[in-house]
Amino acid sequence: MSTDVTNLSGNKGQKLVDPAIRGVSRRDFLKFCTATAAILGLPIGMADAIADTIANQKRPPVIWLHFQECTGCTESLLRATHPTVEHLVLDLISLDYSETLMAGAGHQAEAALHKSVEDNAGKFILVVEGSIPLKDDGIYCMIGGKTALSILNEIAPKAAAIVAIGSCASWGGVQSADPNPTEATGVDSIIKDKPVINLPGCPASPYNLLSTVLYYLTLKKLPELDSKGRPKFAYGRLIHENCERRPHYDAGRFANQFGDEGHRQGFCLYKLGCKGPETHANCPVQLFGDVGSNAWPVGTGHPCFGCTEKGVGFCKPIHEQASVFTATPPAMFPDINQDKGGGLTAGAALVVGAAAGAAAVSGMKFSKALKETDKAQEETPADK
Ligand code: SF4
Repeated sequence: MSTDVTNLSGNKGQKLVDPAIRGVSRRDFLKFCTATAAILGLPIGMADAIADTIANQKRPPVIWLHFQECTGCTESLLRATHPTVEHLVLDLISLDYSETLMAGAGHQAEAALHKSVEDNAGKFILVVEGSIPLKDDGIYCMIGGKTALSILNEIAPKAAAIVAIGSCASWGGVQSADPNPTEATGVDSIIKDKPVINLPGCPASPYNLLSTVLYYLTLKKLPELDSKGRPKFAYGRLIHENCERRPHYDAGRFANQFGDEGHRQGFCLYKLGCKGPETHANCPVQLFGDVGSNAWPVGTGHPCFGCTEKGVGFCKPIHEQASVFTATPPAMFPDINQDKGGGLTAGAALVVGAAAGAAAVSGMKFSKALKETDKAQEETPADK
């Protein structure tokens, strides 16, 4: 049986995912699109355009390169609790090259990479996962006899846009921790003449990748970026602003040690080194893994590590206390004695409002529906 290594996510030129094929009701599908519009900060009327993008447009070619990293960003995309995020992402794009996912190797893989770059010059999206070492002409990361630096310099100029996924590709990540022995750096420090979208995180949230791709495909332009190249819709707020433990911070109720009474009561983790006050990301609102509330580091009792913030994650000692930029409590915040409710956290619900609340709920429903459809398809005998 031959293996087509030139296209990892389906046949090139096909329409995008058809929700009907996945067994998702039109109602749930439109709810998902409305929710996505809300997350992206678009008018609710854009939900129709997002639905059209998912259902009708042709998939853009994507080349996904791996350099100095642990493959955690790809793994988190693929290992989502409900398999919908990776289905949505892989159905939205035509993944032509990915060393982690492709069956081919060696010369076969190299040939696939160069064929796709030449065939799609100026049109493909380049996703880079991992940092690029600069020391000693980049010899500390080599693939097929070439340095990561030379591969990036060869392929990036031919891309339409570049997504640096994860903290490593965004600004060096763990490899760049002092003393940074290989001079690991991020993509936008090397590539200056192409738009580079940074999606930092260790791992990056797959939902932010999905939202970025949907935004690009729907509006035919890149989302608005902050001064560090991150989409504002995902990284526009401090974690401290949306954290469910913020009322405890404002009330002066802290955990002082892991396992003490304050920690068991769910008090603020600032004194344990939480970097939420100086880290921008949507983790407390978006959460991880489709498993409901509290599925993020602070929600499980661990201080935020600051992985999405250049100069914080992998730079500051883990238990050093953070710099606080927003001492004043947000205007609308729940009382510390208020019930959190069963779905979204109270803090998150207040911040993102009813529309984004619908986003999380309908997104999860959509995920669940796709999962159930996949399960049913797996259980259906092929020759029936
Ligand atoms: Fe939440 Fe950390 Fe801020 Fe405390 S310091 S409110 S745990 S983000």
